[in-house]
Amino acid sequence: MGSIGSRLQEVKGRIERACRAAGRDENSVTLLAVSKTFDAPAVRQAHAAGQRRFGENYVQEALSKITALADLRAQVEWHLIGPLQSNKTRPVAEAFDWVHSVDRLKVAERLAAQRPPGLPPLQLCLQVNVSGEASKNGVAVGDAPALAAAVAALPREKVRLRGLMAIPEPAPEREAQRAPHRALRELLQAINAQQGLALDTLSMGMSADLEAAVQEGATLVRVGTAIFGSR
Ligand SMILES: *Cc1c(COP(=O)(O)O)cnc(C)c1O
Repeated sequence: MGSIGSRLQEVKGRIERACRAAGRDENSVTLLAVSKTFDAPAVRQAHAAGQRRFGENYVQEALSKITALADLRAQVEWHLIGPLQSNKTRPVAEAFDWVHSVDRLKVAERLAAQRPPGLPPLQLCLQVNVSGEASKNGVAVGDAPALAAAVAALPREKVRLRGLMAIPEPAPEREAQRAPHRALRELLQAINAQQGLALDTLSMGMSADLEAAVQEGATLVRVGTAIFGSR
């Protein structure tokens, strides 16, 4: 199936074509390479091929990779995209650049309190449950505006609310894939209008549905399998 470098190029080509089809600038979508379950040497290969942003799901696994790749630390961004319990926030506040999975105020408050002085603010997204009962993670759509307002009010030198993230239920074809992505975009627009915020990040789209997500306005796609192989 080729090397990590060639698969990265294929994924970038998919993003470019999806941007062109949607009339969007190809630089308006950031590629997050999801390296969960793959080891530090695999991440190093992706880095050697030019990739700079990596997504991880499990805190302990990520911390050991961040340590193993300490020589690259200044060049890469580490994004936590997996569920975060409030008793696990401290190492995340200390080691990551972004957290996409904030779904409770308590988690954001702890990240803000625990972000070490001297580091740039931790960049946050709220994970929204756009698939209703099918998913247990994420804030309910109806509760997202109030949570966004509360998180945006935390100290800005510690945490910066950037936008929304979703993991929609898988759907086999493009039209069905678009609906939850569209719902997330409309929610972001409503929150910005209602709360007077300028959130700029829509973290949505994975290996199987990134075209639908780009079509609906994704600014960051999280791609694992199509880069590193199946898990
Ligand atoms: C694993 C994972 C991805 C990547 O999924 P692929 O289908 O492998 O591209 C993206 N986002 C989250 C939150 C994940 O857990």
